[in-house]
Amino acid sequence: MTTHLVWLRNDLRINDNYALHAACRSADARVIALFIATPGQWAQHHMAPKQAEFIWQSLLDVQQSLAKKGIPLHLAECDDFTASVALLQEFCKEQRVDRLFYNYQYEVNERQRDAAVERTLFDQKVMVQGFDDSLLLPPGSVLTGNREMYKVFTPFSRAFVKRLHEGLPECLPAPDVREGGAIATNDSPFKAFDYPREEVDARLFPVGEQAAIARLREFCQQPVTQYPELRDLPARDGTSRLSVYLATGVLSPRQCLHRLLKQHPRGLEDPQVFVWLNELIWREFYRHLLVAWPSLCRHQPFTRWTRGVKWRDDERGLLAWQQGKTGYPIVDAAMRQLNSLGWMHNRLRMITASFLVKDLLIDWREGERYFMSQLLDGDLAANNGGWQWAASTGTDAAPYFRIFNPTTQGERFDKTGEFIRHWLPELRAVPEKYIHQPHEWAKKNQQSLDYPLPIVEHKHARQQTLDAFEAARKQTD
Ligand code: FAD
Repeated sequence: MTTHLVWLRNDLRINDNYALHAACRSADARVIALFIATPGQWAQHHMAPKQAEFIWQSLLDVQQSLAKKGIPLHLAECDDFTASVALLQEFCKEQRVDRLFYNYQYEVNERQRDAAVERTLFDQKVMVQGFDDSLLLPPGSVLTGNREMYKVFTPFSRAFVKRLHEGLPECLPAPDVREGGAIATNDSPFKAFDYPREEVDARLFPVGEQAAIARLREFCQQPVTQYPELRDLPARDGTSRLSVYLATGVLSPRQCLHRLLKQHPRGLEDPQVFVWLNELIWREFYRHLLVAWPSLCRHQPFTRWTRGVKWRDDERGLLAWQQGKTGYPIVDAAMRQLNSLGWMHNRLRMITASFLVKDLLIDWREGERYFMSQLLDGDLAANNGGWQWAASTGTDAAPYFRIFNPTTQGERFDKTGEFIRHWLPELRAVPEKYIHQPHEWAKKNQQSLDYPLPIVEHKHARQQTLDAFEAARKQTD
């Protein structure tokens, strides 16, 4: 009997899992699964303790689901990716593995590890097969007429949709129960991995594949106009909140696409429905970019001249931003949402990122790192893409002279201050008219507020940033 090993990484699900499906294709094979925790590597990648907890809980869930299919899931641990190559080699020997199946990861360290695994196992005569599973379309498959990766999102999205019209990527079912039937999970009990973990709000982010599928269904059932109308309002529950499931692979983007089209068959053409699909295409865009320009994984700015920007060294400013104590209510409420939930609304990610870079003139990589260390949905491609967009260092980024005014952004997207009051209880008494400039109210009414004064004056900060970018640009002219 041949033995097939499925190496799970960020694909913690049994439905529509290309590697798992391929491993189970032959009814005669013995199929086993393995997850390797690499705490040292995770620390280097600044993985959030909340994400570690979510992965841990998801592993327990997927272990149950696999056991029902007759597939044992083993959990192993070693320090980093380098050590995981040797660990995998040993595991394959012990379990007499003939074929290894896994889904690709596209980041540089992950790709180097996988190349090493392929070389090592080749010598051991283990066949290795990888799959493009975490995307709707594989990197390198959506190209310009010159066969290059797009640098601008809109034409990429147009070409992407054209490809979808030619044929949708297949969404595969969970494997059938193996011949021996279900197994007990205590056949391969888990020992918790050695990485800090922090509780996740289970009401907002319930763990497990079934919970993710239920949330996807619920989201796709809402009226099509709702998302375009509500998606920029952080006080409303207007977005899918599926990012954590997509980032950890508890849900696949194909499941999202097929569910959306089932509910709205004209989703590729209907502009109202397409708004959400376009967000999934942003996700694809950033992943495709990472493969075309691997230096992005090394935190290099996409636009070369922006390397010359002289960032400020401002530890106090950075700390105030991280703690939500900048004196700008929308920024602070957003950062407290991040610190508390491990999730932040997209509009607020844009506002807070812009504030760090363009009001405090702090290096965007500080923000990128901090987000990663807090986010449940932390994902190198999307996070890097978002930060480089906000910092004007990326491809198709906001131009450097586009600088959000944090006060007017708050007035626009949290008009009544509902979101601010929720996260900043110290401002609950401030009337709606002053919620975005609470100290004005305090001064007028001789009230004392337990809330910091703005740490920078926006107009001055804006000019300082424009000067810094223009100086860098001149250097390279
Ligand atoms: P929805 O609005 O329901 O969108 C559906 C899905 O599309 C999301 O779950 C996500 O997978 C994808 N998506 C949506 N917007 C984007 C986008 N701009 N770029 C890439 N994918 C997108 N997203 C992450 O998944 N991980 C990150 O680490 C991350 N860091 C970010 C950092 C910054 C500075 C910015 C500006 C954005 C970042 N995003 C990141 C993108 C976006 O903010 C989140 O994906 C979104 O807020 C998740 O909420 P949702 O699932 O309700 O999104």
